[in-house]
Amino acid sequence: MRPLVEETGILSSVYARGRAGVHLTHFDWDENIRAARTLCGHPVRSNARSINFLVAGCLRCAERASGAGIHLVTDGSSGVNLVRFIEQRRSHPH
Ligand SMILES: [Zn+2]
Repeated sequence: MRPLVEETGILSSVYARGRAGVHLTHFDWDENIRAARTLCGHPVRSNARSINFLVAGCLRCAERASGAGIHLVTDGSSGVNLVRFIEQRRSHPH
């Protein structure tokens, strides 16, 4: 099993057009902004680095990332454990 540290920086937290909250997409999404989609399938609007994914994150994006084997995302200064995030969301839905 690869260490979690290697998996940071693969995804970015972003805002989506027409959707609330913070979503996830590939870190290099801004190389092709028009084609960029969040992991839950919505157009990417802008970086959301100042907003904590733990507070406003999208459960579907977290589930997609976790299903692809990515269990940690960087969120500005801190790392977010997606497995824990998903467990918390499922046990305390908004
Ligand atoms: Zn999403």
